[in-house]
Amino acid sequence: MQERHVAWFKRLAAPKVKGDQKTSVPSGLWRLCDACGASSLAEEVYRALETCPHCGRHFRMTARNRLSLFLDEGTLVEEAGDLSSGDPLAFTDTKSYKKRVEAAQAAVGERDAFLLAGGCLVDRPLVAGAFEFRFLGGSMGSVVGEKVTRAFELGRERQCPVVIFSASGGARMQEGILSLMQMAKTSAAIARFRHVGQPYISVLTDPTTGGVAASFAMLGDVILAEPNALVGFAGPRVIEQTIRQKLPDGFQRSEFLLDHGVIDQIVPRAKLRTKIARILQLLVGSPEVV
Ligand SMILES: [Zn+2]
Repeated sequence: MQERHVAWFKRLAAPKVKGDQKTSVPSGLWRLCDACGASSLAEEVYRALETCPHCGRHFRMTARNRLSLFLDEGTLVEEAGDLSSGDPLAFTDTKSYKKRVEAAQAAVGERDAFLLAGGCLVDRPLVAGAFEFRFLGGSMGSVVGEKVTRAFELGRERQCPVVIFSASGGARMQEGILSLMQMAKTSAAIARFRHVGQPYISVLTDPTTGGVAASFAMLGDVILAEPNALVGFAGPRVIEQTIRQKLPDGFQRSEFLLDHGVIDQIVPRAKLRTKIARILQLLVGSPEVV
């Protein structure tokens, strides 16, 4: 028992990114930090979990990198990966919605803006989901709403915790009211999930806005955020024009939200795994060692 506990504790360390691990980062590329202006090797940035090695700026992550670095190595099993958007309104602006989706699929290599997976966190089975912000700004249409809903349905079925990493510009306007409906649908799924007594941990990353912020992202039993993430419903300019007042510095950033009691804690990316494993340990006890 003692040994098991120690082994479990040891595995709480931040995920290791091995030098020889296959990555999508070509060697020799440099990445410029928009916060401190320093250039770092792209590989070095990747090893720092996509943060700036000089100032700690948290860059946006792809959904796949996010979940594969969050879950125990080799445990990620994708769910509902075959879902892709229809075009229910035959919507066209300067380009048809269908063409926009196809272009995003080709450019990003994902079928839509959300990756859903089962996996383990320090030997604890859970369901995890992450937004792919590069896919039409991480907007929530029917597919994203369905996959978020399935995350909670899977959590209910498997009686395990759910962790969701949000990064979204909000509802997908091209799907009109069907995209707004996802706010109610996902919230209802959380209400049903609550009956199994397992926690839902919401992690807000840069940016979490619009319909996603106004629904499941803010309904976590525990709400964590990465440093300096933009989190809000409408953007600051819209609010300033509506209320005709200047907004305070840092408005809608994680640190401001923490000061005002909107979120529970700000956790740097390198500590997210440890922090979430500990929260789950506190809320539901040790994972069963098989
Ligand atoms: Zn920097």
